[in-house]
Amino acid sequence: MRVNITEYLTIDLDKELWECRVCAQSLGNARDNYKRGLLVCDRKLSEVHPHLLDPEKYEYTFCPDPNFTALIEYYCPSCGTMVETEYTVPGHPLVHDIELDIDDLKKKAAQWGEPGQAEIPEWNMPKSGHSH
Ligand SMILES: [Zn+2]
Repeated sequence: MRVNITEYLTIDLDKELWECRVCAQSLGNARDNYKRGLLVCDRKLSEVHPHLLDPEKYEYTFCPDPNFTALIEYYCPSCGTMVETEYTVPGHPLVHDIELDIDDLKKKAAQWGEPGQAEIPEWNMPKSGHSH
């Protein structure tokens, strides 16, 4: 059984593995940090936040100072989908942002069923025919 965790991450509860939702690539133990299974890019800040003022003339240019800020991007090693980004401080270890109780998740997922199998509430059903 699989449960969707984020837009790009799912967990295979039977194998207890993180997976990419786009290509189903295994990303490692679901009880560990999923980022360990992803490619990491320490992005150059000026590529994302270009200097709005001339850095030769001004100390502050609206581009974050790389001495205090790091932009880390995480990509699926199989399909290249950007799975996550985080702003942190240079040299900081991987931020462990999702830590789930897998045993409890298995109990809840057994009640939910596979994604896409949930019943659509009547109030959310499309109305038949045109009303205008
Ligand atoms: Zn992928």
